[in-house]
Amino acid sequence: MKKTDTIIIGAGPVGLFAVHQLGIKGLKSIVIDNLDKAGGQCIELYPDKPIYDIPAVPECTGKELTNKLLEQIKPFKTEFFLNERVEEVKQDRENWIVKTNNNNEFSAPNIIIAGGVGSFEPRKLAVKEAEKFEDKFLFYAVKDKDQFKNKNISIFGGGDSALDWALELSKFSKINLIHRRDEFRGAPHTLSEIKKLEKEGKILIKTPCQLESIGGKDKIDSITVKFDNGKTELINTDIVLSFFGLVMKLGPITEWGLNMNKKTIEVNSENFETNKKGIFAAGDICIYPGKLKLILSGFHEVALAAVECFKRARPN
Ligand code: FAD
Repeated sequence: MKKTDTIIIGAGPVGLFAVHQLGIKGLKSIVIDNLDKAGGQCIELYPDKPIYDIPAVPECTGKELTNKLLEQIKPFKTEFFLNERVEEVKQDRENWIVKTNNNNEFSAPNIIIAGGVGSFEPRKLAVKEAEKFEDKFLFYAVKDKDQFKNKNISIFGGGDSALDWALELSKFSKINLIHRRDEFRGAPHTLSEIKKLEKEGKILIKTPCQLESIGGKDKIDSITVKFDNGKTELINTDIVLSFFGLVMKLGPITEWGLNMNKKTIEVNSENFETNKKGIFAAGDICIYPGKLKLILSGFHEVALAAVECFKRARPN
């Protein structure tokens, strides 16, 4: 079990600034996020949108803000645990124990929940066979592209992730790109590359159609898709990749015994502590009279939470 001064749940802008506010007080922290990268909504929902309301920064994009926040906390050499969702929070005398879905355990006198609108999770395929093959032959993200070499891969989705992975994996595998509409939403350059590879027979495009079923016993050997005109087609497939975007799920946070108000956690606005001593909430996830869901407000909230965290971590 890893011990630290504060466990930060959520690597959105507020979780990142929490590292700074704790760090300048000499407190160590670790950050856990379900996403594969830091930045929360800024990076996942609007990386290229301009933000105009950060003090002293007339304009920056979601991605630029994230990069600046990461640069600002570099001196604190904080450990990040990405692709991990916090499942369990339990008390151990003066400390809190946090357990993730990867069975990692952390212990600290303080937790700052900067969980935003919940953890971002992939929208899953609706067919009943999907679960049985998940993480073995069916994936919602690519962590190691080498495991997809020399395969028949069926990729679902019409956005950037589906198109980018179709291009990348076509370098060493046969790709079926399947979308429920005829039009794809992607950068013009990517779309023209896809068309080129389609002509060369390296990518087969199937539209407008949807997944009907997945065939195979211990592993996937085919999928069946149904076109809008009612026709079906069996496609030889070893691997299914699905990129239908992300959904936000509040998830396990509701089970930690905290006072909730709809989908937010009630806090005391003097120090952003919840009804549990040593558990704080800041950013979009917290609620108090006058709360504004802005990055700026989250920064203020973690600054005050960090003061209280210091008192608990260094009682003498
Ligand atoms: P988030 O950014 O939501 O990050 C929370 C993180 O916690 C996520 O990465 C999530 O995966 C993680 N998480 C949650 N639960 C768990 C768990 N159990 N385990 C592990 N990880 C977990 N605000 C502004 O001030 N200015 C703007 O111009 C602006 N424009 C916006 C434009 C759009 C389109 C949107 C959607 C929002 C905008 N906002 C803007 C709002 C701003 O993005 C949010 O206020 C801000 O992102 C909140 O930050 P946060 O760190 O609290 O949460």
